[in-house]
Amino acid sequence: MDFRFSEAEESYREEARAWILANIPPSWNRDEHLDFAEDSDSYDLIRDWHRALFDAGYVGVTWPKEYGGQGRSHVENAILQEELVRTGAPPTVNGLGIGLCGPAILHHGTEAQRRRFLRPMLRADELWCQGYSEPGSGSDLASLRTRAERRGDAWIVTGQKIWTSAGHRADWIFCLVRTEPNAPKHQGIGFLLIDMRSKGIEVRPLVQMTGAHGFSEVFFTEVEVPGENMVGEPAGGWEVANTVLGHERGASTLSRYSMYKRDFDSVVALARRTRGASGRVSDNPVARQRIAQAAIEVEILRLSSLRQLTALAQGRQPGPESSIQKLYYSEMGARLMALANDLTGVFGQLARRSPWAPDAGRWGQRELASRGPLIFAGTNEIQRNIIAQKVLGLPRS
Ligand SMILES: Cc1cc2nc3c(=O)[nH]c(=O)nc-3n(C[C@H](O)[C@H](O)[C@H](O)COP(=O)(O)OP(=O)(O)OC[C@H]3O[C@@H](n4cnc5c(N)ncnc54)[C@H](O)[C@@H]3O)c2cc1C
Repeated sequence: MDFRFSEAEESYREEARAWILANIPPSWNRDEHLDFAEDSDSYDLIRDWHRALFDAGYVGVTWPKEYGGQGRSHVENAILQEELVRTGAPPTVNGLGIGLCGPAILHHGTEAQRRRFLRPMLRADELWCQGYSEPGSGSDLASLRTRAERRGDAWIVTGQKIWTSAGHRADWIFCLVRTEPNAPKHQGIGFLLIDMRSKGIEVRPLVQMTGAHGFSEVFFTEVEVPGENMVGEPAGGWEVANTVLGHERGASTLSRYSMYKRDFDSVVALARRTRGASGRVSDNPVARQRIAQAAIEVEILRLSSLRQLTALAQGRQPGPESSIQKLYYSEMGARLMALANDLTGVFGQLARRSPWAPDAGRWGQRELASRGPLIFAGTNEIQRNIIAQKVLGLPRS
């Protein structure tokens, strides 16, 4: 593990930082923390910002130049992500496309698929969502039942997906579908790219406990999909999905650390300006101990992110050990948000935007939202199973 950045990397940091600071839209509220960018009032601003970043060469920087990327290193990408968080820039959109489907197409797709899909994905001209989970097939994903039958050159898809983040905004969905119903369950699954405007697709909203509408249910009735939209072999989708899951669980390295570090700094500021019955909250010994514990946990995340970044820089793909990272950051994040909300005392329970809610009810809202990462990308119980079996080599019980 190497903690230092080279001179060239530091100058890339300066260049990126200067561009970001000069271009953040003046109307952007840097204190805004979004549960789902797709459900935000500022959505148009965020999408325009994403496109400006792409046009300046700051989206998908590790992807090859011929597909709209910049051919830069993972270290440079981590530096860029760090600066985006540090400067308080708006978030980007299309994370599921760029973070998950893009790498799958890069690794397993045909040349025609790369040319067709990658650039519009990076520029957010086409927005993507992920169609994996189904009612009854979440943790046991390989039991999924949405089926795709070959008819001539096309696939005919029938079934249902659930918890589809940003499904109501998406132009495309990357879906796991059962292509061979009689094969063993991990085989006979395909990875199919489906146009959300196809005849036979219905999207219904799901509203989560924070009040945001980030999810949808997606229903497929005899949806016709061109045969050329299958990524990899029609029965080889499980392998493609695993490339994607490795990225989803662990590949974001330093940017996640920077996000939590920013949150931690906000929590310290909150403790300093909040007064309880016996004075400033930051002088309370119990609160101080919890803040110290949080500081240690955030620093551990920085070190383990650097270890992961070193592995990526050495050309290793994220494997089952990314489950350790996912388990750690999600639990740490939930503890940090619980701490923040506790510091605000009973007022933290007030509804969002109540005039008496500290910071416009942000902390209560974020504590609710912090439960999501414990579940998405495979629940933490499932991550513990993966770590036990695939990292530690323990036997299945
Ligand atoms: C914020 C958020 C965003 C999401 N976005 C998407 C998306 O865009 N696309 C998509 O396809 N899905 C998405 N999901 C769905 C997510 O992937 C599933 O919720 C998750 O995989 C769990 O599946 P489930 O909800 O069916 O729970 P279940 O699988 O029914 O699990 C219920 C409980 O049983 C436990 N459990 C199950 N099996 C085991 C086992 N073998 N050992 C130990 N414990 C077990 C689980 O840990 C959990 O506590 C999202 C979820 C969240 C919270």
